[in-house]
This record gives sequence, C-alpha cells and structure tokens, in this order.
Amino acid sequence: MNVLILGGGQLARMLILAAAPLGIRCQVVDPAAESCAADLAPWHRMAWDEVLVRRDLLDWADVITYESESVPCALLTALATQHKVAPSAEALQLSGDRWHEKQWLSRLGVPVAPHRCIDSLADLQAATAELGFPCFLKWRQQGYDGKGQWRLNAHSDLASIWQAAQQRPSILEAGIAFTREVSLIASRRAGGELVCYPLTENRHQQGILIHSRPLADDPLQAAAEAHARRLMQAVDYVGTLAIEFFVVDEQLMANEVAPRVHNSGHWTIEGAETSQFANHLRAICDWPLGSTRLLAPTLMLNLIGQWPSEALTLAERGAHLHLYGKAPRPGRKVGHLTLRARSEGELMSHWLRLQPLLPRSEQPSSSE
Ligand code: ATP
Ligand code: MG
Ligand code: MG
Repeated sequence: MNVLILGGGQLARMLILAAAPLGIRCQVVDPAAESCAADLAPWHRMAWDEVLVRRDLLDWADVITYESESVPCALLTALATQHKVAPSAEALQLSGDRWHEKQWLSRLGVPVAPHRCIDSLADLQAATAELGFPCFLKWRQQGYDGKGQWRLNAHSDLASIWQAAQQRPSILEAGIAFTREVSLIASRRAGGELVCYPLTENRHQQGILIHSRPLADDPLQAAAEAHARRLMQAVDYVGTLAIEFFVVDEQLMANEVAPRVHNSGHWTIEGAETSQFANHLRAICDWPLGSTRLLAPTLMLNLIGQWPSEALTLAERGAHLHLYGKAPRPGRKVGHLTLRARSEGELMSHWLRLQPLLPRSEQPSSSE
C-alpha cells in the first residue's frame, strides 16, 4: 500500500516508522520549510493547493491521510472526489473549528463546558457576565499547545486579551475545575470495526502536554468508549482519533477532539500491543485492527524546549527515547521519552531518577 501523508511533523515521522514493518510506503507533503519526516520518506514541499495538480503523487497513493489540522478542509473535499481520503474532510471540518466541534459533541450527547461564540468585544463582555471567571478565550481555528487561547481572570482583562487574540473568531469557555484530564484514543475501520486504548491521564503546564500515563481499568473507560463510538459512527470515521476529556465529579466532559494520531497516545509505541500509528495505518488501509492491550506500566514524558542528554537518558533501564529532529525552541516539543517498567513502583523510581536529567520536569503528584 502507498500512503500520502499531508503534514510533515513528528506525527508523520512516527506514522512512517510504523508503516515500514507493515510494508507500507509513504510520501509526505507539507508547505513548511522543514519536515521532521524528511530523512525517512520522500518529502515534497508545496502549497496545499498544488497537491491537486500533482498527478504523480495522487496516482501513486492508494490512500491519502493527514497528520495536521492545518490541512484545508476544501483540499480534502476536492481530493475525496477521486481518491480515498481518511479520515474524511467532514471529520476535520467538525473538529477543526471549536464552535462546530462543541455543537457536534453536544448533538451526540457528549457533555462539554458551557461556552459562547465570540465575534466582538461586546460578545466577550456579555459572555463573561454569563460564564463568570476564570474562563478561557480560544480561537475557533488553528490553536494548539495552548497557543491561541487565553485565561481571563477579571473584567479588566477583556479588552487587552481581545486585542491579543487579534479579534479573531473565538469561543469563550467556562473555566472547569477538573480533578484530572484524560484522553481516549480509538481507531476505526470502514464497516465499523473499532478498538479503544486504555484511557490515558494527561498533565499539562501552560496548555502544553507534559506527560501521559495509561490507566489500567479506569472506572470511566466504558463511558469514554461509548462517547468515542458514537462520535466515530456518526461520521463513519476511518483512522485513529483522540478525545480529550476533563473529569468533573467523576464524570467525563469533552474538551476537544483530534481527528488524527495524538500526543497522548505516543506511549502506545512501546506500551501497547499495537501502536496508535500502526492502527491508524491498518484502519486507513482497511486491514484488521491490532490489539490495544496495555503491556506494562508505562509513562510518556514530552521533551519540551530542549533535548536531554541522550546518553544519560538511555542509561535508564526501560527508557525509550524519541527525538523528532527539531531545533530546540522554548515551548516546542522536540521529542518524547517513554518509560516502561515491570511494576508501578519501578516506573515511579525510573521517573524520579530521570527527573533531574529532563527539561521541564515536574514532581510526581501523590496519586502517582
Ligand atoms: P492541544 O495541544 O491539546 O491541541 P490546545 O491548544 O488545543 O491543546 P486545549 O486542549 O483546549 O488547547 O487546552 C489546553 C489545556 O488548557 C487543557 O488541556 C487544560 O489543561 C487547559 N484548559 C483548556 N480549557 C480549559 C477550561 N475550559 N477550563 C480549565 N482548563 C482548561
Ligand atoms: Mg487542540
Ligand atoms: Mg488539547
């Protein structure tokens, strides 16, 4: 099978690495000046529109997929008239705009935070009066890693934050006093075969994911799977998808949906029987999906802003280092490290030993 990947970031890189043992060939298209995948597969730098006239690539591809939400929906729609595109343009259209996403989730009975659509400072003033403080202003489109979102603490913040947000179409969300954040990664094949990974607990700092830990037998697993099944069936979703949830009063409240492989599923490379990347490829190639079984206690730590010492990190037993070939910059994800151990206790001692070696590390909380 030949897979054309739209987007050349680290997710493309990990898809290509998972494709190789399955005998799947990949090529990558991205308008950016650099690609994390350039050393692994042919990479074509071009404007998104140009893809439509690249007959060589389109004729070569058995299936076209995307790893970035910045791919234009119109491009996917145009490609889908003659080619197999998975996940669909509809999935991206619904999840790529926070207002549409909230409506999609609500329509299907998945709880979301109270929110309002914001197009002006007057909208923002009216919405904060209703939702109270703290609350979060988020661009409808394009934000990630906490970019394109602002926490509002008081009325005095409104004008300056509306300026900082460049007055772009946004939503305002009530601040949610969650007890924890979890995500569900699921893969679905045309025809309905669907597999879900164990719920993953995620910790963020300043809007950036810093670590993820799969949970064996979380009491919310069944509820999360039911939400995923409903969302994926509704759009006949094909591929891997992630749903981020806040946990409030031991109930799930969806935060956002990513129609792609997801950072909180990177632990599946070493921690699950089949990785989220392999299952994405199996799904879009219409091959049987693999087991999502958790193999051992696992923890994924993002490497943010700087690289750790490879030698020191790799000296730790059970540590699996992934570097994306990106130049370090503050707040930029340059790699991740997955720790796998024989027991929870051993996992925590790996983590404690590694902490001084890692950028932006955090003390394990009491529940960990
Ligand atoms: P990602 O990189 O996951 O795509 P993003 O930039 O799209 O992130 P969100 O997932 O919406 O942003 O928010 C990032 C984090 O900020 C959340 O995981 C959560 O920790 C915090 N946050 C966002 N919205 C709220 C909210 N309404 N109430 C409380 N905390 C919030
Ligand atoms: Mg997001
Ligand atoms: Mg998020």
